[in-house]
Amino acid sequence: MSTQEYSRIVSLRFPPQSSGQPMMYNLARHFDLTFNILQANINPRREGHMILELSGTREHYRQGVTYLQEQGIKVTPVAHEISRNEESCMHCGLCTALCPSKALHLNVETRLVDFDQDKCTACNMCVTVCPVRAMIMEVDPNSW
Ligand code: SF4
Ligand code: SF4
Repeated sequence: MSTQEYSRIVSLRFPPQSSGQPMMYNLARHFDLTFNILQANINPRREGHMILELSGTREHYRQGVTYLQEQGIKVTPVAHEISRNEESCMHCGLCTALCPSKALHLNVETRLVDFDQDKCTACNMCVTVCPVRAMIMEVDPNSW
């Protein structure tokens, strides 16, 4: 089993009867997943909707999503893309060691970190690691 960190952005649609249950708490407690709620629209006794980033191991992510589905929640991946705030980036190079697709890489001629958005797989690793939050995750509003 892989213990490598895994992160995905998902949309959750709750049926009215499950909106009040402590599912987020259970995700952390039973599956060791951390979550970051990006958008939420939860009304008591009505269908709820939430977009969150789930992080943990790939296996825990799979188990956590299965758990949510067993509670009657519709779980779908959310389209999103990563961009860089060019004014914030200080070209420290931290993200280049983590970027699996090499979309972020050191340009040996300029000694600056280049970002090739076409190669980016939107895995979010750089968003978490960047000390000045120069890497920005944007959710596609048409995908939820
Ligand atoms: S970690 Fe952030 S500041 Fe450092 S090079 Fe990457 S994007 Fe720029
Ligand atoms: S989101 Fe992932 S693939 Fe894209 S630049 Fe960041 S680390 Fe690289």
